[in-house]
Amino acid sequence: MDRAEIRAKAVELARKAGIVITDSERDQIQIIDYGLDPIDPQLSFQILIYVNNDRYCAKELIMFPGQTCAEHKHPPFLGTPGKQETFRCRYGTVYLYVPGEPTPNPKATIPAGREEHFTVWHEIVMKPGDQYTLMPDTLHWFQAGPEGGIISEFSSPSRDDYDILTDPTLATNKDPGLRD
Ligand code: ZN
Repeated sequence: MDRAEIRAKAVELARKAGIVITDSERDQIQIIDYGLDPIDPQLSFQILIYVNNDRYCAKELIMFPGQTCAEHKHPPFLGTPGKQETFRCRYGTVYLYVPGEPTPNPKATIPAGREEHFTVWHEIVMKPGDQYTLMPDTLHWFQAGPEGGIISEFSSPSRDDYDILTDPTLATNKDPGLRD
């Protein structure tokens, strides 16, 4: 799948959740690929930023079945405490992992060869209507279930380029998509 096909597929998945994405927004969907070329279909996902300014941010995270957001945290930056984010599941299932008691038999499958870079294993299974808030500077990662998953994210200002990824071979998103 090329990038245009990935974006079109993301729009289709959003439509299943009753989320309308306009044609111009479709072209602005970012594919979070961690700098991997070719794109790793499991270790990538799609985001659409509705708004991101110096006071607040809102985006959709659109994930195909099994797609994974790599472990990361949002540290303090530019005098702010770091990004605090609230996830609300809109569609499908998302397995979210945070610090805490490791969950026996977790549902997610780590991309092969990257096991050591996924270190927090307290599992939260998110279904439509479930909501969870991540405080700044807290490690987390997540993976979509077999039907995919969509999360609406509400947060303080987002600067993906300041994120700290546990896996040093992965690149942060250099396009934080600052829009008013
Ligand atoms: Zn995050």
